[in-house]
Amino acid sequence: MKCRVCRGPAVIDLPAHNANFCVEHFVAFCRSQVAKAIHEFRMLAPDDRVLVAVSGGKDSLALWDILLDLGYEADGFVIGLGIGEYSETSTAYARSFAEARGAKLIEVDLRADHGFDVPTAAAETKRPACSACGLSKRHLFDRAALEGGHAAVATGHNLDDEAAVLFGNTLRWNTEYLARQRPILPERDGFPRKIKPLVRLGEREMAAYCVVRGIDYIVEECPMAAGNKHLTYKDALNLVELESPGSKHAFYHQFLRRAADSFDAETTAHDGNRCSRCDAPSANEICAFCALVERCAPPAEVPIDLRARSSR
Ligand code: AMP
Ligand code: ZN
Ligand code: ZN
Repeated sequence: MKCRVCRGPAVIDLPAHNANFCVEHFVAFCRSQVAKAIHEFRMLAPDDRVLVAVSGGKDSLALWDILLDLGYEADGFVIGLGIGEYSETSTAYARSFAEARGAKLIEVDLRADHGFDVPTAAAETKRPACSACGLSKRHLFDRAALEGGHAAVATGHNLDDEAAVLFGNTLRWNTEYLARQRPILPERDGFPRKIKPLVRLGEREMAAYCVVRGIDYIVEECPMAAGNKHLTYKDALNLVELESPGSKHAFYHQFLRRAADSFDAETTAHDGNRCSRCDAPSANEICAFCALVERCAPPAEVPIDLRARSSR
């Protein structure tokens, strides 16, 4: 097996790209795929500051590493979700990466800063943990980027993630969700831009990237996400990919090219109202995150800054 670029011994084969690479050219390939996605979808201008949401997993740490190497001013952002040892370990990996690269890491802890954690929210709302978790992450990403003056929030969603979500949404023709499948959501009043620069790279590539770059990451999946339907969709797409390399890429990227536009009209416009507690854009008097805080956090633990904001 020879590297496509230098003909030296290859360490990885990528059937979807009909290519094999040595370590050096595999790293260059990953960087160029991220650069290509950023360019194609106009995700970032060269001097945009970007906030990378890091979970301590392979995708977000690889993304952070690549953005720094591409020359972006990229700060990390990690949320302690309070999911026992899993959350402690994921924060620890984010910290050690930041230290090793001399990068800035911004930390928020759900329990310490907002008085609740994901398991409490799941029990209190009697809904799957992923819904309170996703809601909290989206809210805190937006807030951190706006406070930090970052042009965009980058997440580590990769091609496998996006193809699996697209698969689920097309299976059921969830047209409202299809409208939000682009790897970039432009900034709007009160919301920063959201970007997914790994949409040209799969899970296997990201794991290999971390190994060859010596990046330690949390391997375990979130214990609260067990049974998540996306895992089934990923397995199904992996079967197809084995038979027909490049299918995942074609499925997702041809959707963007040929079909995504048809669903645009279905995105709901925001009416300009704001949450009376945190000032985030919200259709209701208080936003979904503040409602969750109110429901899950014992009043005594409501952080000072929230109390000050809510008394306005
Ligand atoms: P998930 O929702 O766990 O599939 O993660 C999707 C993306 O969200 C990751 O690639 C990260 O960019 C981001 N993310 C997940 N968990 C956290 C966390 N605890 N703190 C900050 N960002 C996170
Ligand atoms: Zn090579
Ligand atoms: Zn709010």
